[in-house]
Amino acid sequence: MNEAPPEARWSKLLVLDLDETLIHARGPSQGELPWPPHRRLGSYRVWLRPGLAEFLRHVLARFAGVGLWTVATSDYARGVASMLVDPARLAFIYSRGRCTALRDPDRGRRYWVKDIRKLSSTGFDEASILFVDDKPRGLERSYANLVPIHPFMGEPDDRELARLTRYLDELGPVEDVRSVDKRGWARREDL
Ligand SMILES: [Mg+2]
Repeated sequence: MNEAPPEARWSKLLVLDLDETLIHARGPSQGELPWPPHRRLGSYRVWLRPGLAEFLRHVLARFAGVGLWTVATSDYARGVASMLVDPARLAFIYSRGRCTALRDPDRGRRYWVKDIRKLSSTGFDEASILFVDDKPRGLERSYANLVPIHPFMGEPDDRELARLTRYLDELGPVEDVRSVDKRGWARREDL
């Protein structure tokens, strides 16, 4: 666990998803987009969500801890993380190995869940942990901690991170983040 930066305002942990939350990546078998990628990681083309650098700067200054948690592999997670931010500034980079595999009995398919209990070693209690993720199902064990975000598919006119920054500024001072209903924030016109 890293020390909180001196300017941190809130003793809270912010856990960010990668794919379709902060970036959109396409492998070689996936088609083109009308917009050229911003980065490349091996055979992946990577589009950064507009406003990403400002967003990360903001949350790293405000939250006592910022971690990344993806269901992707650890190599991919570390590769993407280091194109976004100095990994030393992150509380952790968690990947699929930290996820829990569950089976959907209707479809017979496996899916991955990010279990909030695996964050107990970070020292933050569950009242002080926020997730931002485009896939609510992965947070089915902690919906009350989730700020759901519209999936980013590479669009250059996406503005969700600027709106999310303002919304997190509202949530930061809340004593127990689970007490706030966060489902409708994306439709709010005042953000
Ligand atoms: Mg995602």
